[in-house]
Amino acid sequence: MSRFIRFDTSNTGEPETTRGEADCARWVQQQLEEVGYKTEYIESGQPGRANVFATLPGADAGRGKLLLHAHLDVVPAQASDWSVDPFSGAVKDGYVWGRGAIDMKDMCGMALALARQFRREGTTPPRDIVFAFLADEEAGGKWGSQWLVEHRPDLFEGVTEAVGEVGGFSLTVDRPDGSSRRLYLVETAEKGLAWMKLTATANAGHGSFLHDDNAVTILAEAVAKLGRHRFPLVMTESVGQFLAAVSEETGLELRPDSPDLETALHKLGSIARIIGATLRDTANPTMLDAGYKANVIPQTATAVVDCRVLPGRQAAFEAEVDALIGPQVTREWVTKLDSYETTFDGDLVDAMNAAVLAHDPNGRTVPYMLSGGTDAKAFAKLGIRCFGFAPLQLPPDLDFAGLFHGVDERVPVDALIFGTNVLEHFLLNS
Ligand SMILES: [Zn+2]
Repeated sequence: MSRFIRFDTSNTGEPETTRGEADCARWVQQQLEEVGYKTEYIESGQPGRANVFATLPGADAGRGKLLLHAHLDVVPAQASDWSVDPFSGAVKDGYVWGRGAIDMKDMCGMALALARQFRREGTTPPRDIVFAFLADEEAGGKWGSQWLVEHRPDLFEGVTEAVGEVGGFSLTVDRPDGSSRRLYLVETAEKGLAWMKLTATANAGHGSFLHDDNAVTILAEAVAKLGRHRFPLVMTESVGQFLAAVSEETGLELRPDSPDLETALHKLGSIARIIGATLRDTANPTMLDAGYKANVIPQTATAVVDCRVLPGRQAAFEAEVDALIGPQVTREWVTKLDSYETTFDGDLVDAMNAAVLAHDPNGRTVPYMLSGGTDAKAFAKLGIRCFGFAPLQLPPDLDFAGLFHGVDERVPVDALIFGTNVLEHFLLNS
């Protein structure tokens, strides 16, 4: 795990400055081959954007394969903000510290350790397990999962289900009788990601003249309207099930029709920032660009808006956006990845439940929707049923959501040991 963190696999979003994945992938490949795996090392469309695949054969070759995937890249870290070197993988105070500790070199470490253990011990799981270590998740998978799905679908031949991030972590909630319960959140859905570029075009001219057709003003109005707009609350199946389970455990009034649902959610702590974002579509302006001289009114002004859209809402969302931005502003998608949702049922979900309960009798798995996106979006295009299940038992007071892409990212050593045990149980019984 620390070894994984010591590979600086920072993904800047630009292929020229994203360099570490290949070294890390070569090391993973060597670790797998050392215990007897046949591996495949694949560069996904750009030099150095490296992925490694290996399969552990199962008892029943007729069953659909299970894909266990983890991405090797991380978001960059500003070392001066951290209390440890973000690429040291330091172990102190019971934690492994470093960029990627929870996103998601924790899962890389657990998957690699189990893959090696199974092979060394001659373990045969019930069905084939495909281990995949991937590039470029942090920039949307264009040079990773998306490329592989498009250009190498053969790698996923026979795969019916997949587990990866972001799920399996515990959320401790207080029950009305004073006891507590650990909920393990299993990701069954993801909002769509749509980065939208807005362009206002009007008449250029001298800044001293009367000028009521100004692209900057038109764009600013559209951006302000979008940024302040609240899209309607839409209850999806996964969010509804999550709220019902939490209400049942805590006695909190988290009914979909409750007027202060969002206030009540905050009692759950930092996870409310994710859950709250899955109640409705969002459109957050993130970039603005216009003008080149103080006394020149430019002909165009542009903005980028980070839109996250609930399953089934894309058309309605676009109609609502068009009504807000008005006819003088055009929009185009810079990046667009569809939402995804599956149901919380079936043998694989039963296996997750059983694995969690075997190692935490006070645990309960509940489905939830991720407000962001993962590589699951790419695999879902192939008809693979995807879940976020990278198990970790976390201390109740740890701000887990805040650690994602955050300063001093770290993971408890105990959580990793627990997670590896749960994952082992799950893989050997699914
Ligand atoms: Zn991640």
